Amino acid sequence: MLADRIGRITPSATLAMTAKAAELRATGKKVINLSVGEPDFQTPEHIKNAGKVAIDNGSTRYTPGGGTLELKIAACTKMKRDNNLIYDPSQVLVSCGGKHSLYNACQALFQKRDEVIIFSPYWVSFPDFVSVTGAKPVFVKTDPNNQYEPIWNDLKGKLNSNTKGIIINSPSNPTGGVWSDEAVIKVIKLAKTIDAWVFSDECYEQLTYDRPYVSTASLVNDYDKILTFQSCSKTYAMTGWRIGYAAGNSKVINAMGKLQGQSTSCPNSIAQKAAIEALTGDQTIVSEMRKIFKVRRNYIVTRLNNMEGVICDNPGGAFYVFPNFTQILKNSNKINSSNDLSMYLLENKALVSVSGSAFGSDGNIRFSYAASDDDLSTAMDLLEESLIEIQN
Ligand code: PLP
Repeated sequence: MLADRIGRITPSATLAMTAKAAELRATGKKVINLSVGEPDFQTPEHIKNAGKVAIDNGSTRYTPGGGTLELKIAACTKMKRDNNLIYDPSQVLVSCGGKHSLYNACQALFQKRDEVIIFSPYWVSFPDFVSVTGAKPVFVKTDPNNQYEPIWNDLKGKLNSNTKGIIINSPSNPTGGVWSDEAVIKVIKLAKTIDAWVFSDECYEQLTYDRPYVSTASLVNDYDKILTFQSCSKTYAMTGWRIGYAAGNSKVINAMGKLQGQSTSCPNSIAQKAAIEALTGDQTIVSEMRKIFKVRRNYIVTRLNNMEGVICDNPGGAFYVFPNFTQILKNSNKINSSNDLSMYLLENKALVSVSGSAFGSDGNIRFSYAASDDDLSTAMDLLEESLIEIQN
């Protein structure tokens, strides 16, 4: 009955875990949810107010399908200010979140017989974005000891004349890995040899802890097949407002706009007004959140590495850690996989995480540290306790 493309989609594992956490909470249990992919901060007041003013002033009608010119200009101003990226508003499309921008771009560029490189572990949505177009996701291994940078021989061996795109996501969900500029440049150079599109998903660009973030497209000036994807979601604690944007080659941006015009129409008019304030107004929240996340990252990575048998590379960005439990799984005759471990934590400790298998990496679990200090401390106690229980 249903079209084939539906069969090519896997439901989001992260959203499934969030739903499980809500179910548990509804039974009255105290749940610690480290599966979330959003800041645990409120949208700043000045941004909320811009939304309220938009309602009062009647900005409640359709806008142009690809977003208002005012917001596109704001996105260009922001990208120049923060990322050293020079785009014209005609090269920008505003969508209902960065996820929507990425989806549109995959639809506009990829089709049957194309191959698209995805670095593994990957954000759960990338393979589905690609496979729903009929193209083939091709997974490339990365190095967990080096910010999950590509394993170069694996990448080189998987590039061919069918490779139409390469998706970079640094800082990464789920690993938090931040690639060096050299690694990004190397990927672009390889893409150039086969004329492939480079997608740079920069939705965590403001969340790097050990060095300032450098945008992919700012690293080269002789390749126009790079598309930049950014979002208000994580940077300004605006996940529910649903505003993201893509920038790059205007032909592709127009094609994405055409598709968007016949699917969702414009992004929410009120959220667009709030996004202008977010991108061009007071930026204090951004550095405040970064500071808090850095303290939490340091705490959780230290706790994890102090647990015998657990290995956790120090992730340079985002708000996730992706520890490896392979040794523990080998020692346990109670559980066999990271799925089992994630389930054990959920059912026995009401601690919600996401199993690495959802991100293409069994043996790992993703914990988000977008949670209070108390919750993080209790969660690490519960994890430590569980690891002892399952190895006895
Ligand atoms: N890209 C990555 C790697 C993400 O983790 C997310 C959200 O979790 C997004 C893009 C999209 O975020 P949004 O659609 O809220 O902008």
